[in-house]
Amino acid sequence: MILHVPTLLMTAAVVCCLIAGVQMVLKYRTNVSALGYWGIANVTGAAGALVLALRADLPLAFVVVVGNGLIYVWLGLLLTGIRAFDGQRPLLALSLAAALASTGLLLISYLMGDNLGQRIVIGSLLIAVWCGVGTWIMLQRRPGEMRSRARLTFALLLVLLSLFYVARALGVAVGWIMPMNALSGSAQGLVLLASLALVTGWNFASLYLVLDRLASRDDLTGLLNRRTTLLQGRLLLEEARAQRHPLSVLMLDLDHFKTVNDRFGHQVGDAVLRRFAEVARQSVRAQDLIGRIGGEEFCVVLPGADGKAALEIGERLRTTAESELWEVDQCAIRATVTVGVSTLAAVAPDDAPSISGLIKEADDALYYAKAAGRNRVLSAARLAAGLTASLSLSTVERQAARA
Ligand code: GH3
Ligand code: MG
Ligand code: MG
Repeated sequence: MILHVPTLLMTAAVVCCLIAGVQMVLKYRTNVSALGYWGIANVTGAAGALVLALRADLPLAFVVVVGNGLIYVWLGLLLTGIRAFDGQRPLLALSLAAALASTGLLLISYLMGDNLGQRIVIGSLLIAVWCGVGTWIMLQRRPGEMRSRARLTFALLLVLLSLFYVARALGVAVGWIMPMNALSGSAQGLVLLASLALVTGWNFASLYLVLDRLASRDDLTGLLNRRTTLLQGRLLLEEARAQRHPLSVLMLDLDHFKTVNDRFGHQVGDAVLRRFAEVARQSVRAQDLIGRIGGEEFCVVLPGADGKAALEIGERLRTTAESELWEVDQCAIRATVTVGVSTLAAVAPDDAPSISGLIKEADDALYYAKAAGRNRVLSAARLAAGLTASLSLSTVERQAARA
């Protein structure tokens, strides 16, 4: 079977343009800026593929510089999009400069003599490096949430592409593949077919990534939503039980939040929720989970944290909230937070609570702490040990807290 290289490149260009269209429409509907970068990336990649497809009809220097240059800009925009997706500075100028430098390397090789083998090795290694960097970024864990399957899929496709191009560079460098064969005929056809499959795969993965985020995040604060917090919390609990590690859950509820809305309006109330979410996420470790599970209620899952560590983290969150919510949007908010803590011991009995059970225990402690005056941290263990007397709760208050 002969794979016709220009036809494959043209097909790649058409596929990239079609996916760019879908990404742009989705960008318009969801306002996820990464989709904009990925859409433009695909249009650039399509233009690059078109130039390479017309290789026989265009001057070689133009094909080397413009064709490959557009492919590197495509990869640069892909990485820019990943950074934007992660809420980091996109670093567009840096990506474009790196794309320019990559193209410059190929140009230097071309000017030093028309050495096709060298250009294939350099060009393939550059693609491998770009994809390798993309994989590394995708595998970074965002504090407060687990790596999603969508993220792992995206990373897997990028690393496969990277390894594929390393193999191509190696093949040509050590003489297993003749340069001419690497650029035309079945060998190049196979490279292109596999690249097309992986690129199409990662483009679908980019849509999966965005839709997965929309389905798993809370719109206002960007934290995990209730469903995903419970889902990922269950996984962390199973892991902790299997490894015989402790795990703690914190339930946090902003105090007198209705009054904040009543005094300053809902918009300021929303800004307070966003600020709290931001500082709380910064206060937990990378392996912890944090989600918004109700209006002004948040849940933090702390794998590896025993009761003492959980109380310390709860106290840290409480004091952080106290200082950070002192003033928001130039309004004297003075908001505080109350925290309930529950812990699963490292060696837990068979009938130990599930994640919902731990949340319920933390919630019970939270409500006792509310009744005891708010702006404090209380653990379910302390509650169970009958130390609530020191909280000076009257029977009426306890009943109110339980209600
Ligand atoms: P407590 O200290 O007992 O928790 O008192 P509270 O006022 O915080 O509790 P309550 O349950 O009476 O009121 C919760 C308030 O949170 C009521 C609701 O208006 C507000 N709230 C819930 N979700 C949002 C939201 O998305 N934005 C804003 N601005 N307010 C919200
Ligand atoms: Mg509240
Ligand atoms: Mg509440």
